[in-house]
Amino acid sequence: PKYVYEFSEGGKDQKDLLGGKGANLAEMTRLGLPVPPGFTVTTEACRRYLADGVVPPELRVQVTRALRALEDKVGRQLGDPKDPLLVSVRSGAKFSMPGMMETVLNIGLNDVSVRGLAAVSGDERFAWDSYRRLIAMFGRTVLGIDGESFVEAMDAMKRTRGVTQDVDLDANDLEELVEAYKKVVHQETGRSFPQQPREQLDLAMNAVFDSWNTERARLYRRRERIPHDLGTAVNVVAMVFGNLGPDSGTGVCFTRDPATGRQGGYGDYLPNAQGEDVVAGIRNTLTLADLAERDPGSASQLYAVMRRLETHYRDLCDIEFTIERGKLWMLQTRVGKRTAAAAFRIAAQLVDEQLITMDEALQRVTGDQLARLMFPQFDRSATRTRLATGLAASPGAAVGEAVFDSATAVARHAAGDSVILVRRETNPDDLEGMIAAAGVLTSRGGKTSHAAVVARGMGRTCVCGAEAIDVDAAARTARVGDIVVNEGDVIAIDGSTGEVFLGDVPVMTSPVAAYLEEGLDTALSGADEETAELVQAVHRVLTHADATRRLGVRANADTGEDAARARRLGAEGIGLCRTEHMFLGDRRALVERLILADSAAARSSALEALTPRQRGDFVELLEAMDGLPVTIRLLDPPLHEFLPDRTELSVRVAVGRERGEDTAAGETLLAAVERLHESNPMLGLRGVRLGLVVPGLFAMQVRAIAEAAADRIKAGGDPQVEIMVPLVGSVMELHLIRDETDGVLADVAEREGVTLDIPVGTMIELPRAALTAGRIAEAADFFSFGTNDLTQTAWGFSRDDVEAAFFAAYLDKGVFTVSPFETLDAIGVGRLVRIAVEEGRRARPGLKMGVCGEHGGDPESVHFFHEVGLDYVSCSPFRIPVARLEAGRAAI
Ligand code: PEP
Ligand code: MG
Repeated sequence: PKYVYEFSEGGKDQKDLLGGKGANLAEMTRLGLPVPPGFTVTTEACRRYLADGVVPPELRVQVTRALRALEDKVGRQLGDPKDPLLVSVRSGAKFSMPGMMETVLNIGLNDVSVRGLAAVSGDERFAWDSYRRLIAMFGRTVLGIDGESFVEAMDAMKRTRGVTQDVDLDANDLEELVEAYKKVVHQETGRSFPQQPREQLDLAMNAVFDSWNTERARLYRRRERIPHDLGTAVNVVAMVFGNLGPDSGTGVCFTRDPATGRQGGYGDYLPNAQGEDVVAGIRNTLTLADLAERDPGSASQLYAVMRRLETHYRDLCDIEFTIERGKLWMLQTRVGKRTAAAAFRIAAQLVDEQLITMDEALQRVTGDQLARLMFPQFDRSATRTRLATGLAASPGAAVGEAVFDSATAVARHAAGDSVILVRRETNPDDLEGMIAAAGVLTSRGGKTSHAAVVARGMGRTCVCGAEAIDVDAAARTARVGDIVVNEGDVIAIDGSTGEVFLGDVPVMTSPVAAYLEEGLDTALSGADEETAELVQAVHRVLTHADATRRLGVRANADTGEDAARARRLGAEGIGLCRTEHMFLGDRRALVERLILADSAAARSSALEALTPRQRGDFVELLEAMDGLPVTIRLLDPPLHEFLPDRTELSVRVAVGRERGEDTAAGETLLAAVERLHESNPMLGLRGVRLGLVVPGLFAMQVRAIAEAAADRIKAGGDPQVEIMVPLVGSVMELHLIRDETDGVLADVAEREGVTLDIPVGTMIELPRAALTAGRIAEAADFFSFGTNDLTQTAWGFSRDDVEAAFFAAYLDKGVFTVSPFETLDAIGVGRLVRIAVEEGRRARPGLKMGVCGEHGGDPESVHFFHEVGLDYVSCSPFRIPVARLEAGRAAI
């Protein structure tokens, strides 16, 4: 197979094979942009290498040919003693994993070629600086040496020279530093730094392949739901140099502000620097405006390229570039990661600029982003003590105890605390801490620093570059003037403004949440321009989603209040009212009476006492959803859930007996608890089984529903109630319940003198129900997929236990990339859904079908439900806007 592609051979749609970086380098090459020549080794080669433990033999040959072509193109040879070609070796997977994998620069330098480089560049300092960088990067990445060893050697050198910055070291210093670095290599590995250029190249490529499987890379993929079996591509690129003096440099920029979406170039630039210097936050960076002042020629080349890229990709692009003695070179571009707010703003802006259509705008935003915008924000009217202001790197309002290292963040988070991870700067090893923290605060680094990029990607609140704060990780303190923040002190960070506060700060509804719940006018009144622009953008995109989607969106809601809220958020009915909460609180006593009833008379008196209370609940619900469908599910959970805990009760009874108290009542109760005890209650006496075994229970609920509907009709309302039977596995169960139900409905209709048109349907939440859906459809007026139970029973996973028991291990081993309880397992559980949809509709054309499991509000699952042809999804009220948006996206 072809494992190596020259840049001129690929294009942006080949991310699977060439990785994101390789595909876009190829695309830029084809566009005629200034990309240094190079080639990409495919992800397929990586997968072969990882599977076999050795590189495929033909890879070496293909690399040789591509390398020779590259050498011919630039007229220099890799590591040539007189005029060496140097290359960088960069990772680049299909999905970007910022900072998670490895890069080695300046490959081709050795004890001889470094002098050649010095001679041809006329810059000794530059040559030694490049060489010391190579040894450190190669040492760390390829030879596995702890990077601190090199940092220490560098610090020692700075100390003896009495300077603070690496740029203050001269050629002689750096030459000495190279010796020191080589010693480190020898000490740590027992061998010398490899002098053979091709050996350097081959080892570096393997190291990049290997870095696919580092702990932090795996963790990042789990978190971002990136499959573990994709592998990374490797890009070998002719080096251009940002460290050739003050008219050279390197930078990262965005065509629009990735935090707010504001138009105009946004970036960080570091003169006389190379590679990771910018993102690592080693020195503080300059803005693009600063660059334009220092070097107007390069800046205008850069602005021209940015415009070109935005036109070509028709989206926000992020760019890595290097300026070598006044000439601009593009090292990378991609459609840039952005905050949720920026995603909506940019989508609307691009529509206004007529660069994309409304359909495309809808594709450019996600339900997760919308959900993020609904999170609360800090209340600006509250009194607050501002500690410092940094850069607004990733929005959100986070409050927590300050911690100064990743391990403490993880430990405190596990103990249930909310923490803010405070670092001078973050590096990829802080990933776990960043995941555990509510927010991330750094004192160094720009908006493109590691902390900022990673936090934005995972939706974590982040303030970076708060330079007023002096972070001392060893002492576990952060200092601003006289104020000292110790580990455990509460601080608050505002990722939308960059502010850092001492102590707790109250939060308030976000403008987008206000819009969604209270409408456009309320949200816009008094809003500043930026907020107004955001709210308008959300409104436009969501309105388009509503006009586009085929799926209906209903809510899972059990109370009038929830129903009213869901309706404001755009719910078109209730897809699931779980009636069990109506058996809790002060009604528990009645349920206990029902369970303990030892005669038909006692039972029916308990049921009769429950009926009016249930009816009241239903009236409220039907009123809140007047004119819209309301699906009420008959009781589902096992009865023992309404009784006291078995252990507790037996202790209580035993103690009472010991004390000689009258324990008769307790003992009766205990007997009932024992009788109802089950080892696997989730698979036990629940749902329709209860209805068939506890006489009168379902009939009581049906009566309450019918009477509530009658009440509403008489009050002039338009109740659209539907009755749903849970956990059906056989059509026979449903027939039996229907016989009872139809009788009650007819009886109530006659007694109340109203016409009741109440469909009775069933949940499909057992594999047997899915597989016999054709038969079940004979007795069901509608289907609603209970994908929680369907997942539980299809996989044989206990809903209540497995997530804690072994899901982490399963996610780690790649059995799945996300819990199947969160995102529907389309291949397995989804197959059951497909079968049921097909068979159900074949038996009863036009049979109405929805889903009311948690998956109904999960973005990816919504697309699946659209595709299999359900009529609606039903989810918790908070997820309604997300489902509306995703249903719209699914329909495009
Ligand atoms: C389901 O099983 O998907 C469902 C909606 O019912 P519950 O979660 O109440 O079991
Ligand atoms: Mg269920």
